[in-house]
Amino acid sequence: MAEKSLMSTYSRLPVAFSRGEGAWLWDSDGKRYLDAVAGVAVCSLGHAHPAIAKTLAQQASRLIHTSNLYQIPLQEELGQALIDRTTMARCFFGNSGAEANEAAIKLARLYGHQKGIEKPHIVVMEQSFHGRTLATLSATGNRKIQAGFEPLVSGFLRVPFDDIAAVNQVAASRQDVVAVLVEPVQGEGGVRIPGADYLTQLRGICDRRGWLLMLDEIQTGMCRTGQWFAWQHENVRPDVMTLAKALGNGVPVGACLARGDAAEVLVPGSHGSTYGGNPLACASALTTIEIMSQQQLELSAEAIGKQLARGFQQALGDNPGVVDIRERGAMIGLELDRPCGELVTQALQQGLLINVTAGNVVRLLPPLIMDTQQVNQVIETLVPLITGFLTE
Ligand SMILES: *Cc1c(COP(=O)(O)O)cnc(C)c1O
Repeated sequence: MAEKSLMSTYSRLPVAFSRGEGAWLWDSDGKRYLDAVAGVAVCSLGHAHPAIAKTLAQQASRLIHTSNLYQIPLQEELGQALIDRTTMARCFFGNSGAEANEAAIKLARLYGHQKGIEKPHIVVMEQSFHGRTLATLSATGNRKIQAGFEPLVSGFLRVPFDDIAAVNQVAASRQDVVAVLVEPVQGEGGVRIPGADYLTQLRGICDRRGWLLMLDEIQTGMCRTGQWFAWQHENVRPDVMTLAKALGNGVPVGACLARGDAAEVLVPGSHGSTYGGNPLACASALTTIEIMSQQQLELSAEAIGKQLARGFQQALGDNPGVVDIRERGAMIGLELDRPCGELVTQALQQGLLINVTAGNVVRLLPPLIMDTQQVNQVIETLVPLITGFLTE
């Protein structure tokens, strides 16, 4: 293998997949795997979806890329489709989650400057994840991701997640805050679900202080949590929201959406992207949205999550090594009392793809087209692995 040709940014598992179909993947030796990660919440429609394949083939044979120097009808159509589903007002398209958050951060700073705040600050959370670019890693609440890349981008104020008092304290003591950036459910941080009225309370503070509520829905959005967007669980509308991951079902595309004054902040010259919102990416996202709507995949996410949580609760709920079983739609976290990274390799050997995040949380993000039999197979494969691991 020519692995030496690559910078060693990843510690990769010793497997390479050569094809997929729905929730299944096959490696280069022909061994089959059940995918309960979906490329980290990206391939929500599963692999090799025929409608996506058809859209991509057709669009590629017509037009892949022009430029944002010109009008792009498919980008306008995608913008409208997202606005219809989010009640936001305007979209900016990039190619990744980090780029979507960069747009949100730039937007918030410009918004602050326009209000006469010279050094605008954004409130961010501990254990958060917002990306790997300099601004987004500075916003991220994880020292491992920041270490070695100092000096960090300034202008972020960090508070504990799910702690309204801490945000109130910032509100009482500072005049230079312009926005709060938060994940409705922390994904990389370990599938951490805040209290039932957390977003509502944040909304209240933002309204009183004239701050923008900016929700990073890159992992939680696009039907993942049992609603199209996680804020719909509390019916708390953000001023700015970011999307990526499942938006293109694997074709790179990210979006920053805004409404109200925030939607008017970026003007010609203030931001841009060469590829952002090109015809190929937009065609893929439009087809993804169409299929999610037709098949009501937010309901599937809810059902998959319930089935997984029930199965794990029954089999592992009394196990003292299992600290917590968390579920928000098809976003599942099994927190163990010890680091459990080795479970990933053990599951791989059994033909199951899982993820471990935050050291001790088994995270499942299955494709939203997974059927009940496949969900059962996830439970039946994973439970003995976890039980065995905890009795070692
Ligand atoms: C994955 C993720 C990002 C970063 O997205 P990239 O496409 O890797 O840049 C940002 N925020 C959240 C919540 C994510 O899950």
